[in-house]
Amino acid sequence: MPPPYPQYGFHYCIETPSRTRTPIYCAQKVTDNNSTVQPVSPDKKISPLARFGDALERHHALVACIQWMMVLLYGLLLLVPVISPSNDTSRAARLMFWGIGWPVIVLSVMLSGRFWCGIFCPDGTLTEFASRHGKKRSIPRWIRWKGWPCTMLALTTLYGQAAGFQNHFHATLVLLGIPTTLALATGYLYGNGKRIWCMYLCPVSGLFGMLAKQSPIHFHVDKEQWTKFEGTPKRINCAPLINIRQMQSASACHACGRCSGYRNAVRLAARHPAQEILSANGHSIENADMCFLLWCMAGICTLSLAWPDSFWHRLYMETILSAGLPFDTVLPIWLAESPAALYRLFLIAAGGTLLGAVLYGILRLAGRLANLRSWKPLALCLVPLIGWSLFSGICHTGFSVWQEYGLDSIWYRTFEWCILGFASTCSLWLGMKTILPNRAPARLASLALYGLSVLLLDLVWLA
Ligand code: SF4
Repeated sequence: MPPPYPQYGFHYCIETPSRTRTPIYCAQKVTDNNSTVQPVSPDKKISPLARFGDALERHHALVACIQWMMVLLYGLLLLVPVISPSNDTSRAARLMFWGIGWPVIVLSVMLSGRFWCGIFCPDGTLTEFASRHGKKRSIPRWIRWKGWPCTMLALTTLYGQAAGFQNHFHATLVLLGIPTTLALATGYLYGNGKRIWCMYLCPVSGLFGMLAKQSPIHFHVDKEQWTKFEGTPKRINCAPLINIRQMQSASACHACGRCSGYRNAVRLAARHPAQEILSANGHSIENADMCFLLWCMAGICTLSLAWPDSFWHRLYMETILSAGLPFDTVLPIWLAESPAALYRLFLIAAGGTLLGAVLYGILRLAGRLANLRSWKPLALCLVPLIGWSLFSGICHTGFSVWQEYGLDSIWYRTFEWCILGFASTCSLWLGMKTILPNRAPARLASLALYGLSVLLLDLVWLA
């Protein structure tokens, strides 16, 4: 009997330890004298990216070590300011979370896929660990509700705005501590070594899934190689329960690398950043994903990050002040930093809903004018603009923490314009590719309408 694979409880096949992934044999067949087993034919050429993917698969103990180091660092950053409360410790923790960590994570997902989720995320590690040693129940129907990513991200964003997460450590503690506790509880109750929390409930899973669509690297599945493979494949533990054979998107894949080389068909590979968006089939895009993109990301998240310093925000606050609403009520410190912050939530929720609805109307009309089978691929063309502008807003929030250390952010506006210019160009180019296979006047009108949605999003950031 082959030895049990210690981490996941599966039986693993014996492999020849080779960098070039030359033949993989199953132990069961190697001992058979009349074996008809065929070694997997060696790859003609393995790219450095594929080698890196294979290394992740081979060095799972090192990956596990990195994961637990991240858990330790995360725990220290959350607990040290609680155990030894002082301005210095809480400011350093806020800097690590919001000034460095959050911008780097979002950027990494857009540039390289969800390696953060698969290798570094402490919540992912904890929920998988709890799931391996917990009750192992099957996933209930309520968890599978498709509206969870939208609901969780909107609630988290609105709470973060009310509590002033970047200014107060207790808000950071609530904002990060509650999801970690829920991740542990979900893991303890459901799945067997799986990441049920990450798949359905994590507040940023949907966001990362959208951002990863423009990643220039992904785990590619070669269907021909998959079918040709004649050995006995080893068992793998895909924690987010992906149907790897059918995998075409980088959205759900946590890029953990465990399936690298599987059936000689799965490889980490480069691709054009527009490939996934341009090849999207409208009928396979869920309405819940469109709601998430237009209402939650383009509406709620965009306004949360773009409007606190805007003209519209000032006008709204003056109106509230002149209406005589109370501004001096003392609220629990963990709930909201001030009554003004609670009033701001209404502006963000109402403005975000209106913006999402307007974008939806424009995109549907543009899709109809261009006679597209579905308007949804056109909405996906806005992913670069929405994603990169959110990244710019996240950096802005991070700069406010850096400013406490004396960093001058006078250059931020230029940085924001550069990001917006780059992202708008990408989205316009994607729109042109989707709308203009021919140049009929109706298609040009449709493109103009689509351009209006890009302009609208730019104006929201520049207001
Ligand atoms: S498909 Fe699953 S096992 Fe493979 S890299 Fe993605 S998350 Fe990991």
